[in-house]
Amino acid sequence: MRIFDPHIHMTSRTTDDYVRMHAAGVRAVVEPSFWLGQPRTSVGSFTDYFDSILGWEPFRASQYGIAHFATIGLNPKEANDARCREVLDVLPRYLVKDRVVAVGELGYDSMTPEEDDVFAAQLALAAEHELPALVHTPHRDKLTGTRRTLDVVRESTLDPGAVIVDHLNEMTVGVVAESGCWMGFSVYPDTKMDEHRMVEILRRYGLDRMIVNSAADWGNSDPLKTVRVAEAMLAAGYTDDDVDRVLWRNPVEFYSQSGRLDLPDTEPDGTQTHDDELVGAGATFQGNSVLRGAGD
Ligand SMILES: [Zn+2]
Repeated sequence: MRIFDPHIHMTSRTTDDYVRMHAAGVRAVVEPSFWLGQPRTSVGSFTDYFDSILGWEPFRASQYGIAHFATIGLNPKEANDARCREVLDVLPRYLVKDRVVAVGELGYDSMTPEEDDVFAAQLALAAEHELPALVHTPHRDKLTGTRRTLDVVRESTLDPGAVIVDHLNEMTVGVVAESGCWMGFSVYPDTKMDEHRMVEILRRYGLDRMIVNSAADWGNSDPLKTVRVAEAMLAAGYTDDDVDRVLWRNPVEFYSQSGRLDLPDTEPDGTQTHDDELVGAGATFQGNSVLRGAGD
């Protein structure tokens, strides 16, 4: 099988993870920009991070046969810190870059007025740059937060078909299904959503506009949760083609709206015809550290 993980924070994972992911069928990932655990104190901290997930990380992924893309934005948590909001001024410079396939992750954390402003401003940036948007939903008061998220999307000029509302569960999927937005699910080892609950949701709501990710980061998470969902779907009687649709063609269709999802030819069984295409424009890293790291 071939797997596209549409939301995973590879910068916090090891090379062992890349090896395991490739062996299990993962051939492409999208890394949304997010917070780093430790609060940032200046715009420079964002730009170094953006450069890293657009330069170093795609290069690292390519060494393991995985195509890597990113989404760029000011995350909801740090939208509340005045020192971080200046990053909004530098976003346009990043949103034109080759490997940027959406604006994100955006949305609500605590649902403050600052988050309102930053969320709406970034949806406007997405519309202006003709990019889709990846929207995070809050962990607390989830249904209220999801409804409010959909209101902000409706007030924007962005088409609902260009928006993923992510981290959904049984409580929140219904309102998003009605909205026309794409439905994102983060499958975790112990919280949010597991693979069996995920299959039940697919049974109830169908496969259309459904996106499944591992959202793996530095916390307790598992970069193979996408694969576990594929296995659970097969065990529940779904076909290989159904699995390919949810775990590959759906995220490809969504992020292709950016016009920048330049993927190597990949067969449904995971074989790739041109491995060398992975190191495409923007993925070739020419920093000194790489030359040293390569043992030259
Ligand atoms: Zn995330």
